[in-house]
Amino acid sequence: MNKTYLLYALVICTAFVSCKTQTTEAQKKEENKTVSIEYSYSTKDLLNNIKTLSSDAFEGRRTGTKGAEKAKTYIINAFKEEGVKPLGGDFEQHFTFGNYNAVNILGEIKGTGNTNKYFVLSAHYDHEGVKNGKIYNGADDDASGISALIAFAQYLKLNPPKYNVILAAFDAEELGLKGAYHFVKDNTIQQRNIVLNLNMDMISRSEKNELFAVGTRYNPHLKPTIENFKDLGKVDLLIGHEGIGDGDNWTNSSDHAAFHKAEIPFIYFGVADHEDYHKPTDDFERIDNQFYQDAVETIIQVFIQLDTLEL
Ligand SMILES: [Zn+2]
Repeated sequence: MNKTYLLYALVICTAFVSCKTQTTEAQKKEENKTVSIEYSYSTKDLLNNIKTLSSDAFEGRRTGTKGAEKAKTYIINAFKEEGVKPLGGDFEQHFTFGNYNAVNILGEIKGTGNTNKYFVLSAHYDHEGVKNGKIYNGADDDASGISALIAFAQYLKLNPPKYNVILAAFDAEELGLKGAYHFVKDNTIQQRNIVLNLNMDMISRSEKNELFAVGTRYNPHLKPTIENFKDLGKVDLLIGHEGIGDGDNWTNSSDHAAFHKAEIPFIYFGVADHEDYHKPTDDFERIDNQFYQDAVETIIQVFIQLDTLEL
């Protein structure tokens, strides 16, 4: 957004030569935009978590493998460390399909608003595993969303939400959104009054610095929050990929689809596919640290605003 202003200033300068001040002010504005971010969570932990979860030791986290088990333990420990309580007896929601044994990880943070309503913050921890001897580490897809969930836990520990929050690390997304569908159809979950799903899947890199928010087309009451959001840092938050106009339709592209089908409002946050999408090169080294940190802060700030609404 400020880029337009800068460009405009440069055009004027070319025409009238002596308008150095204007350019400087525009540049300052750009600089301040990045410098003034105060993160609501530890960026060091965020980067450390994504790096660890997408390291070779986790073997691509394919559902039912040792790597997935290792990721499960890592996430549960991180939740515990941030004071997240298990939803139900323990953090694990087991389910089977085909030959797979899968497990969702579900944590809960009680809201202060004296309400029985829930937000579900979600990401998926499974990925493609090892194929033809190559490890598909899935740094952006979706270690980025899982590490963001842990950042949310960190933020919410110090800033309890109004609504109750379920932190959901889903399994078997890559095998057909199985974990999310199982979660949504589970009776004990259905009895909870879920008013919103915020799903994060691939949020750590974008050549154009674009983070898309998908879903307000179906949930217009959520639209003003996104439309009026003041961009921060490197991230341009955009509405799109909802089946209107150009670009792929992402309405059913990840776990939020299970919520949408159950008529639960959702917003999905994600970036455009990149050259390493579903390739063994989706590695930590390829993510954009600055974009990622700012994307997570953006989503937290959107959450803060949504938490003030009557939903
Ligand atoms: Zn994904």
